[in-house]
Amino acid sequence: MDRPFFRVQHYIDGRFVEGKNHFDVLYPATNEAIGTAPEADQDTVDAAVEAAARAFRTWGRAPAAERRRVLKRFADLIRENKEELARVETLDVGRPLRDNLHGYIDRVANNIEFFADFAVTHAGEAYPMDNGYVNYVLRQPVGVAALITPWNVPLMLETWKLGPALAFGNTVVLKPAEWTPIGAWKLAQLAHEAGLPPGVFNVVHGFGPDSAGEFLTRHPLVKLISFTGETTTGKAIMAAAAPTLKRLSFELGGKGPNIVFADADLDRAVEISVRAAFFNQGEFCLAGSRLLVQRAIYDTFLERFVEAAARLRPGDPMDPETTLGALIHPEHLQRVQGYLDLVRDGNGEIVLGGQRPDLPAPFDRGNFLQATVITGVGPEDRVCREEIFGPVVTVTPFDTEEEALEIANGVIYGLSAVVLTRDVGRAVRVAERLEAGTVWINDFFVRDLRVPFGGMKQSGIGREGGHHSLEFFTEAKTVCLSN
Ligand code: NAD
Repeated sequence: MDRPFFRVQHYIDGRFVEGKNHFDVLYPATNEAIGTAPEADQDTVDAAVEAAARAFRTWGRAPAAERRRVLKRFADLIRENKEELARVETLDVGRPLRDNLHGYIDRVANNIEFFADFAVTHAGEAYPMDNGYVNYVLRQPVGVAALITPWNVPLMLETWKLGPALAFGNTVVLKPAEWTPIGAWKLAQLAHEAGLPPGVFNVVHGFGPDSAGEFLTRHPLVKLISFTGETTTGKAIMAAAAPTLKRLSFELGGKGPNIVFADADLDRAVEISVRAAFFNQGEFCLAGSRLLVQRAIYDTFLERFVEAAARLRPGDPMDPETTLGALIHPEHLQRVQGYLDLVRDGNGEIVLGGQRPDLPAPFDRGNFLQATVITGVGPEDRVCREEIFGPVVTVTPFDTEEEALEIANGVIYGLSAVVLTRDVGRAVRVAERLEAGTVWINDFFVRDLRVPFGGMKQSGIGREGGHHSLEFFTEAKTVCLSN
């Protein structure tokens, strides 16, 4: 395939810099090395954090309108480079290109633009007191923000953090996931072109423990960490950040229930459930990976769901006909297949998929797995409790609303849920009792950037979005003015 070999660099203090040790970047669809990225050592991380701390002295005090001007230019450049970014995201992740071209990169640009505008339009607080005093509240940036992101939707999550962090006046060191470093490097190039001052936005590459990730989480000059990734990693970061008492926001794992009631619009329920289970090859924190179906329609629904899932087409992610991409890495594919072995060795039946698809070279070497549907497993089985993070969905029948809620809430996660029903009263009742940060009624993955986003239970700590991001990325200072 005709494509450049990416020599990814760190971006520190407005300069692109090489590192000493490099690791390979693999294209998930073929496992060919398509580039290399440097691993930041302690000195490199120190240089990035110190550059951010220096830049904070001016960026943190710049008028929000000035920050908006340069961030809007950054968002425009993301839009102007949509095709290239869409391709890069596919090379990093293995997701079908068509998904990146339709909506994804627009959202990436919007993450920056939305917060650039929000930072100049949000209202402050002021309280004239009875005694003639006035109390008012200043929102001031916190300082150097470490943004640590996963590999599954990298450009979206990197900008989801970068937008508010920068718009509210913080400076940033971003550590993208080691399996997807190319997109972050491209973002840095566009930010540079947009004219972000040196040190305001830095990118360091590397791994987690004993590498760039951990060095950032322990750094005394880092004042806050916005992290998205696995729940177990969140626990490690919390411990590492404790001695310097950093401000934390965690968006962690999920095991989303997708509840189909007997009165649901079946066509729509099937379409939404397929999207919820298999978008991004199921490597999605918000995935509806546990389908709960009311018994009266269980057989009919299952048949139609399986039929629709079977139409998903794995293959070359650059081909517009491809609708199921490759999993991120051979290690991850093996982990996902391990869950299928649990089903083969124990309870349950794989009623669709479960195998690697038969694809022509070079895609026969990629990390592809067929869309997979499992039945005959229950809430006590690991496949129904643990985050598989692949194109694998379990389908479980239920009888009553109460039972659906008990199963839905019976896991350690609480990130998101889908409710499919025509009964508005039921939808409202169930949404109210679901333990989930976001509930979709008769749809999936539609979100206004002003609403709080985050998880309950072990799916996260805190919320980001709109004024929730403002609260996380700023310090509130109360000023009391005497009469
Ligand atoms: P991960 O936790 O393995 O890695 C995420 C990032 O943390 C990477 O950049 C990694 O290098 C870094 N990291 C790992 N160990 C670290 C440590 N000890 N100290 C500092 N940094 C460390 O997650 P992943 O495998 O890249 O992503 C998949 C996970 O992310 C899934 O659990 C998924 O549910 C979750 N996720 C959650 C959301 C959400 O919004 N809640 C969104 C997307 C993904």
